[in-house]
Amino acid sequence: MSPDSASTRSSSRVFPREFDHELPKAVRGEGIWVIDSEGRRYLDASGGAAVSCLGHSHPAVIQAIQRQAALLPFAYSHFFTSEPLEELATLLVDAAPAGMDKVFFVAGGSEATEAALKLARQYHLERGEPRRRKFIARRQSYHGNTLGALAVSSNPGRREPYLPMLMEVRHIAPCYAYREKRTDESEEAYGLRVADELDQAIRELGPENVAAFIAEPVVGATLGACPAVPGYFKRVREICDRHGVLLILDEVMCGMGRCGTLYACEAEGVVPDILTMAKGLGAGYQPIGAVMAHRRVVAAIEDGSRALMHGHTYFNHTIAVAAAVAVQRTFKAENLLENVRRQGARLKQGLEERLGNHRHVGDVRGRGLFLGIELVQDRASKRPFDPALKLHARLRDAGMSEGMMCYPTGGCVDGKRGDHVILAPPYIVTDREVDEIVERTGRTIDRALRGLPADSAV
Ligand code: PMP
Repeated sequence: MSPDSASTRSSSRVFPREFDHELPKAVRGEGIWVIDSEGRRYLDASGGAAVSCLGHSHPAVIQAIQRQAALLPFAYSHFFTSEPLEELATLLVDAAPAGMDKVFFVAGGSEATEAALKLARQYHLERGEPRRRKFIARRQSYHGNTLGALAVSSNPGRREPYLPMLMEVRHIAPCYAYREKRTDESEEAYGLRVADELDQAIRELGPENVAAFIAEPVVGATLGACPAVPGYFKRVREICDRHGVLLILDEVMCGMGRCGTLYACEAEGVVPDILTMAKGLGAGYQPIGAVMAHRRVVAAIEDGSRALMHGHTYFNHTIAVAAAVAVQRTFKAENLLENVRRQGARLKQGLEERLGNHRHVGDVRGRGLFLGIELVQDRASKRPFDPALKLHARLRDAGMSEGMMCYPTGGCVDGKRGDHVILAPPYIVTDREVDEIVERTGRTIDRALRGLPADSAV
């Protein structure tokens, strides 16, 4: 087809378009609502993709951005530090698990993953272990879309076109009790069994070759807000220590208060070597991510032969860090993590009551205001829907028709997982809004499933 005759499915000049139809045009935000050019209101039950944790019109963040833009929008971090940069680093480090001493800021989650992988590699290099360059990650995980981040991710659809460009990574089982725990096994035994796959993988690769293991404490985009069972991460930590392998925890989606504690790893009682964050850090007001490192990692670089060989123009971006300071202060001033825990419990209970007996709801899970609903064709066998039905797209469209953004993910992989809906509303959500989310989620699921062929399982 010649370029002139190529058809486009949307009149938009924005490329690439994910969807084959026109999207509503968002024009303004009001608390947890987004309003389009036709005046329609959408309840933001997913914070976009677990991003907008303060809603869309918080005056404290808007003022901080305006103030910093008027003072100085950008101080290149090769030449300067800045007041908001130092304040943000101090706020985050002071609240972090012991030993997590230093942090730097990037423009988003994928950049944070890239930097974390390179930091892990350089740590071993500076300590005289240059062979340690292999990474272990988990199946059904997502760590970003740039080449290094995609290599450690295990989202087959996103990886497939670029496979020849990705470094080799060993993927082990996720901790996914709903599908993988045997009925004759306790949660604890399951957690230890699945964590021990890490030990086995390290031994097979040779510990002297392994740089780090990377995992999401609560898996987001690929498993629909799936926490590990208690004890899993403690065992993972022990295994990493035993073999001198670094533990990278990816808290891009589940961190920054989303699960009810500022850092998701607090609930596991585990301190990583490297921790990444993004999304809730800038709350969607600015694009920003971060990499935090334990003092032993920082010391290895500082005592080494060179600085961290990684950097981007927008490292430590001045307006972005100023916005993130305002986000952190707002968490405290409005006691929002307490609200995350309270409303998270209300939302979970509401969903369980509304959907607990739904014939296509297999599981309601998650922590804090990070909840997932797994949809199945058949509850008893947990058979997923046929991915050809594109249930996730139907769910997104159904949600928008119900005036609500929910975040559907999934499509089964070899019958190993189902479709999910993630709910991740802003931390400012009220009782009434939580009840509205429960109601609209129920209607969204029913609308999305309506008209599907009865025998639509894989
Ligand atoms: N890690 C995790 C756990 C994520 O959920 C995401 C984004 N969904 C990323 C990394 C990548 O972040 P970004 O899209 O900001 O590059």
